[in-house]
Amino acid sequence: MNYSHAFIPTLREVPADAVIVSHRLMFRAGLIRKLANGLFAYLPLGLRSFRKVEKIVREEMDAVGALEMKPTVIVPGELWKESGRWDLFGESLLRLKNRLENDFVVSPTAEEAFTAIVRDELSSYRQLPLTLYQINTKFRDEIRPRYGVMRSREFVMKDAYSYHTDEASLDETYQAIGHAYRRIFKRCGLTVIPVKADSGAMGGSGSEEFMVESEIGDNTLILCRSCDYAANAEKASCAADYALSESMEAAADTPPYEKIDTPDLRTIDELCASFKIQPNKFMKTLIYRAVNIELDLSSAPGCAALKRSKPSKDAPLVYPEAFFAAVIRGDLDVNEVKLAAVLKASEAVLACDADVVRLTNAPVGFAGPIGLTDLPVIIDKSVSAMNDAITGALEKDTHFNHVAYGRDFTSWMIEDIRTVKSGDRCPLCGGELYTKTGNELGHIFKLGGKYTSSMNVTYLDENGKNQKPIMGCYGIGIDRALASVIEEHHDDAGIIWPASVAPFHIIIIPIKYSGEVKRRADQLANELTKAGFDVLLDDRDERPGVKFNDADLTGIPWRVIIGEKGIANKKAEIKHRREKENRMIDLNKAVVEIVQNIHDELNQLKK
Ligand code: ATP
Ligand code: MG
Repeated sequence: MNYSHAFIPTLREVPADAVIVSHRLMFRAGLIRKLANGLFAYLPLGLRSFRKVEKIVREEMDAVGALEMKPTVIVPGELWKESGRWDLFGESLLRLKNRLENDFVVSPTAEEAFTAIVRDELSSYRQLPLTLYQINTKFRDEIRPRYGVMRSREFVMKDAYSYHTDEASLDETYQAIGHAYRRIFKRCGLTVIPVKADSGAMGGSGSEEFMVESEIGDNTLILCRSCDYAANAEKASCAADYALSESMEAAADTPPYEKIDTPDLRTIDELCASFKIQPNKFMKTLIYRAVNIELDLSSAPGCAALKRSKPSKDAPLVYPEAFFAAVIRGDLDVNEVKLAAVLKASEAVLACDADVVRLTNAPVGFAGPIGLTDLPVIIDKSVSAMNDAITGALEKDTHFNHVAYGRDFTSWMIEDIRTVKSGDRCPLCGGELYTKTGNELGHIFKLGGKYTSSMNVTYLDENGKNQKPIMGCYGIGIDRALASVIEEHHDDAGIIWPASVAPFHIIIIPIKYSGEVKRRADQLANELTKAGFDVLLDDRDERPGVKFNDADLTGIPWRVIIGEKGIANKKAEIKHRREKENRMIDLNKAVVEIVQNIHDELNQLKK
């Protein structure tokens, strides 16, 4: 392809909202343009790399037996009402009506569409397992689209859905796709950290996220210095930093709990300063409001009168709202995502002051577990070992001293709801945990019967009995993967594409595109194209400096410079984008050398 016809509008300047490298470089190198906030167009050069990422994803998905198909992007709202997500998905779901006033959604993900199709075709166990996928447009009305195509509103996802008769079959596909993902990211030149998205402490895993390290990452990863434990902070657990049994025995020696005056001391910091003790002597009690709770609360304190309802016709029964007390050691923090997971709630957030006052009969700052009989009390595991603590006393300006869990109060649930921090101990090996921030590129997930139940999918088993299949789902963001390649492979001058996803493998730069130089440049371009490579020939009437800068910015891996002087000696200059200096080689050896190098790199990425 000749540069003059390639529509590569490179730029020196970038818009102020482009704060990360990939966003800046995708603009400057003429890969993308913005149509509106969160909506990006790929220009021809960008689309070339985009298609190469798609191709790698497609090859590896096909290699594990997944079958590509193409449902629609616009899906009947009816299906989303069946699954319950019409109401539960929230504001990021774009809902629309057609001229007949029928409801539709613009797919943000496609469990419903795939499951509806499978439901109509599935009759016998002989059709399972079945893994289907698409590489298709998604729309999510993200609150804050940012970082270019990293978090946009319209993007392309490879999403796969698998259907099985049993756990073992689901696990086999889940593992195979997990391996395919590792190969996909490797081939794109991406260094990913696979992270257990459940706690991982129990060994089994029903969910794994593939993260790339990134300063602007939305996820905090918890990693172990001594073993390969890696978990999302939303789910991470840590080893207990107390000896449970010893301290429970010691409770016998604790004096009975007593009231102490704590005028105007509401926060742990104020109490610590006043009593000259450490925060870990306190039990902190926080009141949470949770919504859409699937957990059965019929026996939970104060919840008997709560009614369950269905957000939509076939959705599971949920409690629309309920309040809970969470008690945790004073030096630790409650992790709201873990708390919501324990409650099977869509969200758990701190209750407002008015609700705290109403539910605890005390001003804010004096909540405590003793006497809190009308609220389900969830204690963090850290509290179960505390035998001589200070807690709020449900009364203005008052706390209790010498409080022991088990002796002075019990709980409705003991769970791990703490936020794991750097310095905590690994749940697997006891090593030191540290944190990194990361971006999620892909996610694999065992869904079980969630959608096949709500959408009523059945098949007949060997004995002619009706059964529900179980499901897995598997996503990769193509745009985000592409942007992440640039984040990992660039320098001050521009992108440095891995050969596997480079828009062109080779750029040929004739110093002046005429006469013998033109003839030799055309010839080289033809030979390299015949060898199966993508070649860009910079035929523009520009100064060499401009051409070199554009070649650096667009990141094309191999550059061949052909000038009059070199040709006289049958030489050309070649350089890989990573190298600083040009090398002189025989013009007639250029093809062999470049072809060999690119093959080597592609093979290396496949290993
Ligand atoms: P995030 O937490 O980053 O919003 P998610 O958990 O919503 O991601 P999934 O629903 O698992 O993501 O979607 C699968 C993949 O789709 C993600 O791993 C990511 O690569 C991609 N993706 C999700 N949202 C966006 C977006 N707004 N822009 C670009 N890619 C996205
Ligand atoms: Mg999201």
